[in-house]
Amino acid sequence: MKEIRIEKVDERKERPNDSELGFGQTFTDHMFVMDYDEKDGWYDPRIIPYQSLEMEPAKATFHYGQTTFEGMKAYKNEKGEALLFRPEKNAKRFNNSNSRMCMPEMDPEIFVKAVKKAVEVDQDWIPTKEGTSLYIRPFAISDEVYLGLKAASKYKFMIIMSPVGAYYPQGLEPTRIYVETEYVRAVRGGTGSAKTGGNYASSLKAKHKAAQNGYDEVLWLDGVERKYVEEVGAMNVFFKMDGKVVTPSLEGSILAGITRDSVIKMLKNWGYEVEERKITIKELVNAYKEGKLEEAFGTGTAAVIAPIGELSYNDLDMEINNFEIGDLTQKLYDNLTGIQTGKLEDPYGWTEKVLDK
Ligand SMILES: *Cc1c(COP(=O)(O)O)cnc(C)c1O
Repeated sequence: MKEIRIEKVDERKERPNDSELGFGQTFTDHMFVMDYDEKDGWYDPRIIPYQSLEMEPAKATFHYGQTTFEGMKAYKNEKGEALLFRPEKNAKRFNNSNSRMCMPEMDPEIFVKAVKKAVEVDQDWIPTKEGTSLYIRPFAISDEVYLGLKAASKYKFMIIMSPVGAYYPQGLEPTRIYVETEYVRAVRGGTGSAKTGGNYASSLKAKHKAAQNGYDEVLWLDGVERKYVEEVGAMNVFFKMDGKVVTPSLEGSILAGITRDSVIKMLKNWGYEVEERKITIKELVNAYKEGKLEEAFGTGTAAVIAPIGELSYNDLDMEINNFEIGDLTQKLYDNLTGIQTGKLEDPYGWTEKVLDK
């Protein structure tokens, strides 16, 4: 990549207090921007003051939704060094998403270099209070003025960053989950395995319905038979049944979470049997009735681990582990966040310093 041009703000914004942070409400001083056209590929990488974009209303992205994004976090370890978690996995997944959406891919090294430089420039923004982090949102949009339906010939890649508060200010908390039997999130052959805006727009209706009925999130079933379990909200889902851990296999409609992959590797390292396979909702109901549904949790960058305390399927309310956090769920949360924040040793080589030296 050509040198990243850096234009710094004249005056830094006031950073909110660590204890007053929400999620994705305030943004750091700078942003990374890079353009793409067919002749030059990705060009003009630059870090500039965080600012609004001015765009013609005929830009294709507003109409046909060619958009992709990633979600990552940076933490500071006790020495004050900024750490990323498996950033090359995000780079690779970004390319998978782009490929599915007919958008240009990017050399993973450039992606990681851009993220590191952006975090470096704004590293004073990384909050340090327990549970807080700097959320990083790399994303791409089509950037062509044209209303014909085709893949655009121009794109913009940007990285914005937001200091975020603790997802669980009072420690891990079990969630109430509604098993959605009407709406679906994705189908095989569709875009479910891409991080693209439309997937989230189409999920809102079910989430809204669940919220109105007092639930925190939706458990998605497969789009064809409404029989197999897929994901929980925008997280992957795991169940501990009869001592074994199971999670839905990636069959094209499920997003391949990096937290999911990390949890599977940790569990195997600890000697657990982990099965990636199809799981029917009926299997969960039967396990529950036999007293074998021991723990359930979601995994994703934002929450890391989200314990599930209740699953509601049709007229059946299944309480899991007496609506308490399971031992394994807690252990996974403690170990994963411990590694991410540099408090625990990282035997997997997952954390990466933003500044190598
Ligand atoms: C981002 C995302 C996940 C979790 O992926 P992580 O890499 O663990 O953050 C799971 N499901 C969906 C639908 C997602 O968008």
